[in-house]
This record gives sequence, C-alpha cells and structure tokens, in this order.
Amino acid sequence: MSTVSQSPVLVWFRDDHRLADNPALAAAASTGSQVLCFAVVDDGSDGLRPLGGAARWWLHGSLRALGEALERAGSRLILFRGPALSAVENVALETGASAIFWNRRYSAVEIALDSAIKKRLTDRGIKAYSFNGRLLHEPWEIPNQAGKPFQVFTPYLRAVMARAVAAPLPAPKKLMGGTWPSSLLDAAVPSEELGLEPSSPDWAGGIRKHWQPGEQAARARFKRFLREGIKGYAENRDWPSIPGTSGLSPHLRFGEIAPRQIWHAMTAQVAHEPGLGRDAEKYLSEIVWRDFSYQLLHFHPHLTARSHSSRFDNFPWIEDAKTLKAWQKGRTGYPVVDAGMRQLWQTGWMRNRVRMIAASFLIKHLLTDWRRGEAWFWDTLVDADAANNAFGWQWVAGSGPDSSPFHRIFNPVTQGEKFDPRGDYIRTFVPELSGLPSTFIHKPWEAPPDILFAAGIRLDETYPGPIVPHGPARERALEAFRGLRGMA
Ligand code: FAD
Repeated sequence: MSTVSQSPVLVWFRDDHRLADNPALAAAASTGSQVLCFAVVDDGSDGLRPLGGAARWWLHGSLRALGEALERAGSRLILFRGPALSAVENVALETGASAIFWNRRYSAVEIALDSAIKKRLTDRGIKAYSFNGRLLHEPWEIPNQAGKPFQVFTPYLRAVMARAVAAPLPAPKKLMGGTWPSSLLDAAVPSEELGLEPSSPDWAGGIRKHWQPGEQAARARFKRFLREGIKGYAENRDWPSIPGTSGLSPHLRFGEIAPRQIWHAMTAQVAHEPGLGRDAEKYLSEIVWRDFSYQLLHFHPHLTARSHSSRFDNFPWIEDAKTLKAWQKGRTGYPVVDAGMRQLWQTGWMRNRVRMIAASFLIKHLLTDWRRGEAWFWDTLVDADAANNAFGWQWVAGSGPDSSPFHRIFNPVTQGEKFDPRGDYIRTFVPELSGLPSTFIHKPWEAPPDILFAAGIRLDETYPGPIVPHGPARERALEAFRGLRGMA
C-alpha cells in the first residue's frame, strides 16, 4: 500500500489476535498512516453462531493480550459490541478512515456478512482490503485435477505438499496509533464489561489453570513443543497421559499463531534435525487437516447443521436426556470416555484420540444424533471451531464427505487398554477408580469384589456400571445402520 494520507486506516481484528504474520495489520502499517485497531464482539445478532462458554472465556483473555501487545507497539485495541454491520460502518465514518484492513473468513455466513460490510464501506468511498491470515492455502487455491474442490484428504494433502507455503510476515516494529474520536470512545466497551468471563458461578477455574491465551503464550507453547514434544509425536499423539501434542488448537482457533508460522518453523527444525522427519510430517499433516476442514465447510456450508450424506437423514437417533447427561458429565461407566468428558469439562480440551472415542460412544453406543455432541463440544471446548468441530463429528459419525465408515465402532475398553495401558489418564480424571490395578481400570465391572472393595469402589454407587453393554450396543448400532442401506 503506497499513499500516505492524513486519514487513519482501520484494522478490524477477527480471530487473528496477533501482531506477527498478520497480513492485514502489516498492510495497514505499510500505508504509513495512523493505524486504528478494533474488534467487534457480537452475540449472534450478526447471524454468526454465538460462541460457547469456554471459547468466550478464551476470547476475553485473547483480546486482552492483543490489546496489550498493540499498546506495546504504539497503538491500542478498542472493543465494540455488534452487530458488526452497523458497528464497523460507524467506526469507519466517525474516524474518517480512508481504508479498512481485515483477514478473511471462510464460512458462508461470514462471507455474506463481510461482503455486505465491504459494500457499505466502498459505497461510501472507503476502501476495504482483505487477506489470508488464517490458512496455509485458501479453500479455492487447492483444486483437484478437474478444477473442483477435493472431497478426500489424502490427495488434498499430496496437492498441498507439492506447493510452497508463503513465508510468514514479521510483526510491524512500530505502529502509528491515532486518536479515536470521543463519540467512539464513549461507545467502546472495556473487555471486563463484555460479560465473556463467567462470574456466578465462575466455572473457569480449571481452564484458567491449564491455559494462557495470547500470542506470547502461543509462541512459548510452540517453542516448547519444538524443543520437547515433536520428537515422538507420530506415536505419542494417541496417548492421552503423555503430553505428546502441541496443545495449540485454541491458539490457532483465535489466530494467536498462524499455520504459516508453524509450517516454516517446523520445516526449519527438520532441516536442522533430520531425524524428526516422520514426526514433523505427521504434525504438518494435522495442520493440513485443519485447512481441509475449512475447505470442506467453505464448499459445503451445511456441514455444521446436517449430515453431509443424506442417507443419515433417516437415521433412527434416540433422544434420551438421561444418557446424554451421563455422557456430558463423564458418568457412562466406561472409564476412558468418562476421563475424556471430565477433562473436557475441567480444562476445556481433550486429545484427538479421546475426542474420537467419546464421539463414537455418543453416536454409536448411545445412538445419539452427532449434532447433540457437536453442540456440547461447541460449548465446552476452548478451541471450538466451526469447521474442525463439524468435520470431526461427521468424520466419526461416518456421515461426512471424508469420514470413518459407520461400522468402525470403537470399543472403549480396548481403546483405553491400548492407549492408556497403565491407566494413568484414568487415574487423573476419574480419581474414584485410582485404586484399581491396571488390569481392571478400563473395565471395573470385571473386577472381583475383593479388588473393588480394596479400591474403595462400589459399582453404581461410587462409580457407575456401564450405561449400555458394549456388545449389544454395537449390534444395535450396526442394525440401525443396516436399516439405511439402499436409501438414497
Ligand atoms: P496437535 O496434534 O498438536 O495438532 C496441531 C494442530 O493441527 C491442532 O491444533 C489443530 O489445529 C490441527 N489438527 C489436529 N488434528 C486435527 C483434526 N483431526 N482435524 C482438524 N485439525 C486438526 N479441533 C479444533 O481445533 N476445534 C474443534 O472444535 C475440534 N473438534 C473436534 C471434534 C471431534 C469429534 C474430533 C474427533 C476432533 C475435533 N478437533 C477439533 C480436531 C482435533 O481433535 C484437535 O484439533 C486436536 O485434538 C487439538 O489438539 P492439539 O492442538 O494438541 O493438536
């Protein structure tokens, strides 16, 4: 951007809460004009899905950290309430800005909103510039040979691997912050008044203990992962008691770190330490899964709301508030499912392997509509992400464009025994079972009475027996699925 003008330029932050590798911010800074930074917090009046509780908690910390970082760089962050359409227009007009910069979003509702805002502003002579700050490659940049979007991950991954990833941009050294008109400062809302943090009750204690939102924390976590976690990642990522994954998902979700930064830092690390090849490849392929799920949601906007495969429209889901509650609270009687669901409740997060086991249990053992689980994750995950969450649930259900077949039903006992053989994960999150020897920790109902007694367990009192027996539940699920055969 070339011309220096007297008018300020605006940067509208939306889930890109960082200074480094932020193309919208870099472009605004390069104009040489005063840079006014703002964000809009909305509770759904925009037509966007309101955030769940855990993500709201994260957003609060994320905006605060972004504000502090912008102040260190010479600017500041002003927060407004939505709806965005009127808030952004008002900011643009009142500041007399010549241009606005933002990083693009990719779901249909977001694109519709951004297009409407862009039109309003350009009609008033204000230029709107947008950038890719969220993905390695934007959804339309990786077509298959027929020029269509990929539906299946493996060829998509191959296509991504054959392309260069743009180098990340440095953070602007100094921003020339401008003066906000008092009318806007009066309309601004301090972050504490946005009601993003829970108060009565304050259920976020466990989440607070585990996480620190913000760009600095994201960078520190990633550095630690490069130093201590990436070696062995391909294997360790499935073991819930080993801190074997990066834990970057909420940071990525709120744009506190960008996938391009990860990509280039990881590639540089491999050049330095070639032995990391397989682990790094696996890790980068997970970052590509993220792009892939964004690509799918972009081209299939219904993915968050209904099964991609219409076959599932007639699935005989069971509505049972009692079993749904047992799953949500981690009281199904299957220790690995319960440990996962309690970890989720306490910390706002769980490992991919455990997400798959818990989701499979809800969908297949309890025959509960995957959308019930998606909604619970949406509310409780700090990394709740429209694309990844819907994709994850439809993948497990077998209803997605690329998904695990429905008949692959996880056995929660053998999954637990395979990935947590000593029961360390269970002992952490289901402490009432901690006295059980590993032989029984994934199936307490098989433990002889004297062992249960010695461990202080009374089944159905101190810990529930299985809410459904595995074998019959599996048969029931397969039967329900067979009933769909032949449907369109
Ligand atoms: P790492 O293993 O360190 O991976 C690095 C990054 O790659 C992650 O932070 C994430 O951005 C991306 N990634 C990893 N696995 C996947 C995947 N399977 N699909 C897409 N991207 C992936 N992820 C979310 O970010 N938000 C969600 O709401 C979400 N919901 C899910 C629901 C279900 C039912 C399932 C099975 C998976 C879901 N995932 C979701 C994907 C995955 O479980 C998490 O991204 C991962 O566990 C985050 O931990 P991490 O950052 O330590 O991952």
